[in-house]
Order: sequence, then C-alpha cells, then structure tokens
Amino acid sequence: MVKNTLETLYPDINKYNDTKNAHYITVSDNTINLRTYVTFPTTDAYKVFPGTDFTYAQVIEKGIESRWTTELLGSEYDFVKGMKIKVNMNIIPIECLPLFDTQRYIQINVYDYFDIPRTIYEQFFWHTVRNISHPGYINMYTGDSRNDHLYNYIEYQGTVAHEFGHTLLLGDAYFSSPITGNQLTSNDEIAQGNFGCDGSIMYSNGKVYANDIEMVLEAFIKNSSQDYYTMLANSEHGELTKSNVIRHSQVFDGNP
Ligand SMILES: [Zn+2]
Repeated sequence: MVKNTLETLYPDINKYNDTKNAHYITVSDNTINLRTYVTFPTTDAYKVFPGTDFTYAQVIEKGIESRWTTELLGSEYDFVKGMKIKVNMNIIPIECLPLFDTQRYIQINVYDYFDIPRTIYEQFFWHTVRNISHPGYINMYTGDSRNDHLYNYIEYQGTVAHEFGHTLLLGDAYFSSPITGNQLTSNDEIAQGNFGCDGSIMYSNGKVYANDIEMVLEAFIKNSSQDYYTMLANSEHGELTKSNVIRHSQVFDGNP
C-alpha cells in the first residue's frame, strides 16, 4: 500500500499558487514551506520595541515565524491519524522594490498607539476580494483600544501572528453565537486557551494547531477563505460557513 503523505493528499496545491503572490506554499513529503513577502511602510515599524533590542518590524517577523513554524501530528480530525507534519514559515521583508516589479507582498502598517488590530481586504467596486492572490494588509497597534490593553512582547507577537492567519484566509474562531451569546467550547481541533499564549491562533492568538494548517491548505486549493463555524451574520461579522475540513462536532457553551 502506498503511504499517504501531504504531497499525495494535496495534488492540487499549485492550482492557484504563484511565486508572484505574497504567500507561496510548497508541499514536499510531509513538510510545508510557506514563504511570505512583507513590507513595513510606516516609520513606527522601525522604533525599538520597549524592553528589547529589536524594532517592531523585527519583533513581528520573529513573532509570525515562531508561531507558524511548527511540528504537528495528524489525528482522526486532521489530515491522517499519526502523520507527522512539519511547517516552516519564512517571512521575507522587502526593503525596496524595483520599479515595475510585479511581486506581491503583505503590507504591515505598524502604529505606536492604541486601536483595534485588523486585516483589511481589497475592495473592487462593490465587492471585497479575498483569495490567495489578494490576502489583504495588516494594521498593528501597541495596544488594543477596546479594553485599553497594552500588549506585552508575547501578546504582540501572538496578535500579529493571528492577523497573519487572516491573510492566509482564516476567519476568527472566537465569535459568540448571535443566538445564544456563547462561544465555541475547546475541542481537539480548536482550543480556547489563554490569550496570546496557547489556544488556537485564530481563537486566542496562541499557537497553530493541525486544524489551522489543514484550513490553510484548503484555502490554497479552493482559493477561498475558511471559517471555523457556520454562523448567522451579526454586527461583528458577515455570514460564516464552516470549513469542510472541520470534522469535530462543535459545542457552543460557557465563556459567553
Ligand atoms: Zn481576527
């Protein structure tokens, strides 16, 4: 019997993949290499992150690479049970682009004040474009204005790694149900954890789980965004449809 690898499970991975895209993915055996070009156009990006010897741009680069570079184990819900998966994330900051270069990149706007961190998608006429060629751009702030919270180093990195997940076409996992006001209960695919530290990257800005990577691969082969659950539209988000690769039953209760 031929042994399944990520390479054999994802023969269509190059369907929409293009080296000119900001994100470029390669799948070899059970290893995923993801490289992303980024730019830091604001001057605040080159200020020193308090308490470190690094600039905000450097902290962001390390933060995304350290959260998204990981070793994962397949389960009955993700990939193939027992499969050992390696993810290598490589962020390449572009200092300057030659004129007329068609290389795409993710713009990361760093601001030295409080606001709501977000990923913004391109808008063409009346509709929002969100696919692997148009992953959006990121706005990062020193703190979250919603709860007047100044990020520490770990939380700042977790937050930018979360926003980066949006550019990989992942939705948010923390929304509460518009019907019950409850949030998703932790399970083997999606964990709540502690903010900025553990728990799923798209739930608590923690770390990347096998399910998150499975959703990223699904986003690449479908060229469309992937959401963590089906949910009616409310003031926080439009209508959401659960990704095909989420197989665990989902329960909404607790932590409203
Ligand atoms: Zn988010």
